[in-house]
Amino acid sequence: MARKTTISIIKCDVGSLAGHHIVAKPLMTVGERHLKKAQEKGHINNYYVFNAGDDLELLMVHEKGEDDPKIHQIAFDAFMNASKKAQSLKLYGAGQDLLKTAFSGNIRGMGPGCAEMEFEERASDPIVVFAADKASSSAFNLPMFHIFADPFNTAGLVIDPQMAGGFKFDVLDMKKNRSVVLKCPEEMYELIALIGTTPRYTVARVWRARDDLVCATTSTTKLSLIAGKYVGKDDPVAIVRAQNGLPAVGEILAPFMHSYLVEGWMRGSHWGPTMPVGLKDSKCTVFDGPPRLVALGLQICDGQIAVDDEGKPLVSDLFEDPAFDMARREAQEYAANLRRMGEFEPARLSAETMEYTTLPKVLEKFEKRFKKA
Ligand SMILES: [Mg+2]
Repeated sequence: MARKTTISIIKCDVGSLAGHHIVAKPLMTVGERHLKKAQEKGHINNYYVFNAGDDLELLMVHEKGEDDPKIHQIAFDAFMNASKKAQSLKLYGAGQDLLKTAFSGNIRGMGPGCAEMEFEERASDPIVVFAADKASSSAFNLPMFHIFADPFNTAGLVIDPQMAGGFKFDVLDMKKNRSVVLKCPEEMYELIALIGTTPRYTVARVWRARDDLVCATTSTTKLSLIAGKYVGKDDPVAIVRAQNGLPAVGEILAPFMHSYLVEGWMRGSHWGPTMPVGLKDSKCTVFDGPPRLVALGLQICDGQIAVDDEGKPLVSDLFEDPAFDMARREAQEYAANLRRMGEFEPARLSAETMEYTTLPKVLEKFEKRFKKA
């Protein structure tokens, strides 16, 4: 059997410096330490630790497959210890995403977000890893549609014979915890009908239709549905494979030339405009945002992220680029317009979504004062 490589990105808000702003350096160090140890012990081949705003992101490459208990445990232990460090520094929201304190074999459903992809390496395998902060789990629905189904975005859908036949989308219904596969271009309209409802449906996985080659995967955690109440936003991550019969890296990045609105932002209760940024600007400020997106480009090589002569992973900070200035400016303009509306819908999320927040508590006390009209 051919050797298979697995990319796992597992993330968690373990506590933040100055509110919900950024992962403090000592917490990143805890993450680094855990993954270095895991590499030395041979559990993972290599790794990269970074942050998306207040989320600690652990990117690991290994050969253990998806949903491997050992890999999930490594991430869980790192998050637990980073939370302890956050507590000792009295950082804000220490361990807020960790809904459980004892590991039970799989990190899904315990709070942290997780996207994983196992595949047989091609001659060259370019990868883009995305991470968002102050956004919901379906924040990548719109770009995933553009990348894999929109011929006005992805020239390859028109030009590249290897892409003829289109792509299949695995769509998760987060409300009923069920999923359905739709194929584009044949079911493009129906796909939009589903994934346009971002509070409920999320694109979990994409395959090339003609050979079921896995192309993309996202984290689909809905924290509020696990906990039954608002405990922080889902802040998703995604892995996308590029080139040679798949969308080019440039086609994968093209949807981010413009800002678009996602659920999240302040208190996870508002529509906010996405702002693609380089790692140096991966922090949330104005109204705890605007929702930031980071994108890292890397190559998978013999079971690990390709490394430089010193053994350090070669990672390109893709949104650290003036080409995304327009999206950043649009995000600022949308942000200003939305904030002018204060707590009036549609700036604030729908009443149905707000049920998971503290808003119903505020309204409760007026219940008795209502008279029949
Ligand atoms: Mg976050």
